[in-house]
Amino acid sequence: MQDLIYLDYNATTPTDPRVVEAMLPYFYDKPGNAASRTHPFGWIASEAVDQGRQQIADLIGAEAREIIFTSGATEADNLAIKGVFELYQRKGKHIITVQTEHKAVLDTTAYLEKIGAEVTYLSVDADGLIDPKELEAAIRPDTILVSVMWANNETGVIQPMAAIGEICTRKGVLLMSDATQAVGKMPVCPREAGVHIMAFSAHKMYGPKGIGALYVSYRQPRVKLATQIHGGGHEAGMRSGTLNVPAIVGFGKAAALAGAEMKNEAVRLAQLRDLLENRLTEQIEAVRINGSREHRLPHVSNLSFRYVEAEALISTFNRRIAVATGSACSSATLEPSHVLQSMGLTDDWLKGAIRFSFGRFSKESDAVVCVEAISKGIEALRAESPVWEMYKEGII
Ligand SMILES: *Cc1c(COP(=O)(O)O)cnc(C)c1O
Repeated sequence: MQDLIYLDYNATTPTDPRVVEAMLPYFYDKPGNAASRTHPFGWIASEAVDQGRQQIADLIGAEAREIIFTSGATEADNLAIKGVFELYQRKGKHIITVQTEHKAVLDTTAYLEKIGAEVTYLSVDADGLIDPKELEAAIRPDTILVSVMWANNETGVIQPMAAIGEICTRKGVLLMSDATQAVGKMPVCPREAGVHIMAFSAHKMYGPKGIGALYVSYRQPRVKLATQIHGGGHEAGMRSGTLNVPAIVGFGKAAALAGAEMKNEAVRLAQLRDLLENRLTEQIEAVRINGSREHRLPHVSNLSFRYVEAEALISTFNRRIAVATGSACSSATLEPSHVLQSMGLTDDWLKGAIRFSFGRFSKESDAVVCVEAISKGIEALRAESPVWEMYKEGII
C-alpha cells in the first residue's frame, strides 16, 4: 500500500494509532461485560464505557446520558427515524427531509413511506443548500420529524443548522441530523443548534469501524424513541445488546483527539484542499467546484471535469490515488450522484465528478501528486475525445 495515496477520508478514516493503543487492553486484559455487576471485570468495563461516553458527550456539548451507542451511523439514523415514526404516530405521519441526504436516511424514509408515512423531500439550490423558508412552509400540523444532515458526505456542504433548529423549535417539531461527516471536523453542538437527535460514527473520525452513536436530547425536550433492537434493555432501553467496550474506548479516545486537534487540523487541511483546487482550476479547462465554497467542510473538494468520465480518469492512474466517484455507497451501481443531480448538474458535468477528501495523515505531497495525475489523465482523455473536440469547436 506504500505508493498508494489515500484521498477518500469521507468514506472512512484509518484508525489513529493512539486510538488503537487505548483500545488494546480491553480485548484481553480487561475483557469484562459492562453489564456485569458482580465482579471487578464488569466494573472496569463499565468505567471504561462511562469514560468513553463522557468524552463523546464533551465533544458535542452534550450530557453522557444523551449518548446512545449503536453499530454506526446507519443504525443510528434508522433508530432515530423509525423510532420517532413509531412513537409519534398519534400526532401525525409526516416527515420532512432533503433530497441530498445519505442513503441511510433516504432508504429509511422510503421504507416508512411503504408503511404509511408521508415524506416531503426538500430540494437544494445549486450550492447544495436548503432554503430554511421552504422548510418552514413545508411543516404541517401532522409533521413529526425534520431530518437534515449537518454536512454532506459528497460535497462537504454545511446546512444552516442553527436557522433550521430555530424553525423546528418554534414550530414544536423534532429535528434530527445525520452529523456523521461534521462531528470531529468542525464544532458541532446539537443543543445550541436546536437539534434534538443526532447520528454520528467513529470510523469517520479516526475511531474504529462498527461503532456509532445517537445523541438523544434528555431535557427540553426529553425525546423518546421506540426501541428498534430489543433484548436486555441496554442504553436506556433504546438499543439492547452487549456493549462493544474496546470500540467505545476507541470512539471516546477519537473524540478527545478530535476535540483537541480539530482547530489546527481544519486550517492545515483547508490549505491542502485549496492547493488542489487552485492548481487544478489553473491547469485544466472546464472544471467546476461542486457545492457552496463558503459553507463547506475544510477537507472536502468535489470537482467536475466537463466531458470526462470519472471512471476512465481514475483508470489513467491505475486507481493508485484513492478518490470517490459518485457516492461511495452506491458507486457499485455506477449511477450518477443523487446529490449532484439535486444540485442541478447536467450530464456533461455529472459523469466527471470526483470527490477528494483529505484527512489527518494527508501530506502536501499527496495533493501535489494528485494534481499531476489528474492533469495528465484529463489531457490524455480529452486529446482522444470526439465530444471534447466538438465542444472546443463550438458545435455543442
Ligand atoms: C458514512 C456515513 C453514514 C454511514 O455510517 P456507518 O457508520 O458506516 O453506518 C451515514 N451518514 C453519513 C453522512 C455518512 O457519511
